[in-house]
Amino acid sequence: MTDDQSLLGEVGNNLFMFADIPPEYYRTPIATLLERGQKIKRQMGDELLILAHHYQQNDTFSLADHSGDSLYLAQQAAQTKARFVVFCGVLFMAESADIITADDQMVLLPNLTAGCSMADMADRDHVEDALDQVLEICGVPAIPITYINSSAEIKALTAERGGSICTSSNSERILRWGLSQGERVFFFPDQFLGHNTALQMGIKPEEIVLWAREKADGGLTLEQIKRAKVILWNGFCSVHQRFTPAHIAGVRKRVPGIQVMVHPECPVETVKAADFSGSTSQIIKKVSEAPKGSKWAIGTEINMVDRMAKELKAKDDKYIEVLNPNVCICSTMYRNHPAHVLWVLDHLRDQKPIHQIKVPEPVKSLGRQALTKMLELSA
Ligand code: SF4
Repeated sequence: MTDDQSLLGEVGNNLFMFADIPPEYYRTPIATLLERGQKIKRQMGDELLILAHHYQQNDTFSLADHSGDSLYLAQQAAQTKARFVVFCGVLFMAESADIITADDQMVLLPNLTAGCSMADMADRDHVEDALDQVLEICGVPAIPITYINSSAEIKALTAERGGSICTSSNSERILRWGLSQGERVFFFPDQFLGHNTALQMGIKPEEIVLWAREKADGGLTLEQIKRAKVILWNGFCSVHQRFTPAHIAGVRKRVPGIQVMVHPECPVETVKAADFSGSTSQIIKKVSEAPKGSKWAIGTEINMVDRMAKELKAKDDKYIEVLNPNVCICSTMYRNHPAHVLWVLDHLRDQKPIHQIKVPEPVKSLGRQALTKMLELSA
């Protein structure tokens, strides 16, 4: 199959992905798009930085100057002198990058429809209402601890209410800090990262409650709320919730000696059944440093697992497969096709930037305050 056929086949199934760009972009073979992208990178030199999240599709990934998790990429954006940062990730990541970059830098998202279903599960009005309700019921505020996978608005609210952001690498440390600041924390928006972290810290199951955002008082009794040390917002990741204990049992039976590592956004029972759990960077470190020839099933997004499987097979003869055989893809991240990247790069080359992500004030300053709090607590 030629590059041209492969892209046209893809467009046929996913035309909505390309609705906002001229047809000549998605009709161009991928190899040509990538060549043109590399040429613009050379022309723009230090003015341009391209970042790609671990979960990004391979062709787009190949254009990146740096790849990593959302925090690492935001830090790369903050350290660069580049005037333009093209962020091949999802909206909340580009917002975080804009929050911590200087005002004369511009962050651009190749496809503006690349959102995150988990971040969208927590909007400011509902989160603020929930915090107010807990204050009224308990007489003291719950400290908000907010996963970095959240909107800029929620990060700002977290700062206003004296809380901190966390990542999947430092959630335990930040949750511990939160509990030192008050009687209870309210964890947004991912119930599973909050729950897995709280259990790992030894918090009793009866002191962890799930707040159903669609119900009055979160669907909890006043007694349950007053007894809770950790209240979990009921958001989740549509990709990671699909890894189950049955997948773990299945792969252990099929591949003797295989070890299982999953992301802490997976359900509690899945994390309990796995051999290890960790953030994307922790997964890469653990599996890369494992003995040659070892076998791994990994519970996270397929693009990252596929790349690891190829690289570590060639380097260390490791066997790696994705834990759920039914492709677990972050479909919104995937929307940053090389055609979108080139569309944005062509505009940058012509000094007519498009797709800028600009967080307005005071949300930007407050969001920076919440992110800075996390960096101080993690130092
Ligand atoms: S993998 Fe899940 S949490 Fe991460 S961007 Fe995709 S939907 Fe959001």
